[in-house]
This record gives sequence, C-alpha cells and structure tokens, in this order.
Amino acid sequence: MGKVLVLNASYEPLNITSWRRAAVLLIKGKAERVEHNGKFLYAEFPLPTVIRLRYYVRVPYKEIPLTRRNILHRDGHTCQYCGYTGDELTLDHVIPRSRGGGDTWENIVTACVRCNVKKGNRTPYEAHMTLRHPPRQPYSSLYFEVSKHLKSGSHQEWQKYVIGL
Ligand SMILES: [Zn+2]
Repeated sequence: MGKVLVLNASYEPLNITSWRRAAVLLIKGKAERVEHNGKFLYAEFPLPTVIRLRYYVRVPYKEIPLTRRNILHRDGHTCQYCGYTGDELTLDHVIPRSRGGGDTWENIVTACVRCNVKKGNRTPYEAHMTLRHPPRQPYSSLYFEVSKHLKSGSHQEWQKYVIGL
C-alpha cells in the first residue's frame, strides 16, 4: 500500500498523499481514480496510485529545505566540477564563506573531495574550475519529491503526469 499522486482538476500534479486519504477522497466523491496498481481495498474498490480532484485547488509556494540531502539530489549526486559520481561527495560553497558566500541554493554545490580540496578557498574563476550547471533553487517542491520517488524506482506510473522529469 503505497503513496498516491494527487492531480489538480487541471491534471497538474498537486501533492503526494497516503492511500487512506486518497480512498477517503474517492469515497466522498471529491476525486476520481486515474491509475491503480491492481490491488484492492475491498471488492470493486481498486486502490489508486494516481487520483484527480474534481475541484481546482490554488497551490501555495512551498519552500524546499536547504539540506545536504536535497542539494545532493538536485545535483544528481554528481560533482558539479568534474562529473564524479560516487560516495566521496561533499558540499562546496561556490563563493567561499570566508569571502562572504552565503548558505543558499545558488552558492552551494555538490563537489567530490578531490575538487573541493583543489578549489580550496578560491572562486571557480580563480581556480579555473567550471561549474557544469549554474546552481539554482529547485522550482517546485512537488516535482522535487516526485523525482525522488521515481529515482528510487517506485511509482513509475507517476512519470507521465510530471512533465519535464
Ligand atoms: Zn570533482
């Protein structure tokens, strides 16, 4: 019994909820079943994996916490300087903290130990090291969450509802 992707009336992904809450929305007629996984809560009640609300909900912006785990996920667990993927990953302040660089999505990137040591207390420009992608704040916390599920191999049926992943 897994998580359920909730779509807005407009078919845009809205949030991720428990199967219990999704079942309640279906029983109350507030949502319709879009996808199910072939498991049944009881006879003639297939458990949903994707539901769609019958009414439109305005979506408030939700901030994604700036954590090591989330930065690694944003960067695809890849050193942003050399492309290394592996266990020895660290976080690098693009503009070093000692030189006024802040703890922000735009100033922290994933870097391997080797690149981090090589860069030291310099800017990428000074160290002649190029960032593969300009670091940015993830634009949607829901897309961020959904992509975590997809990357862990679960809920592949959500993929087609989340364009751009
Ligand atoms: Zn590296």
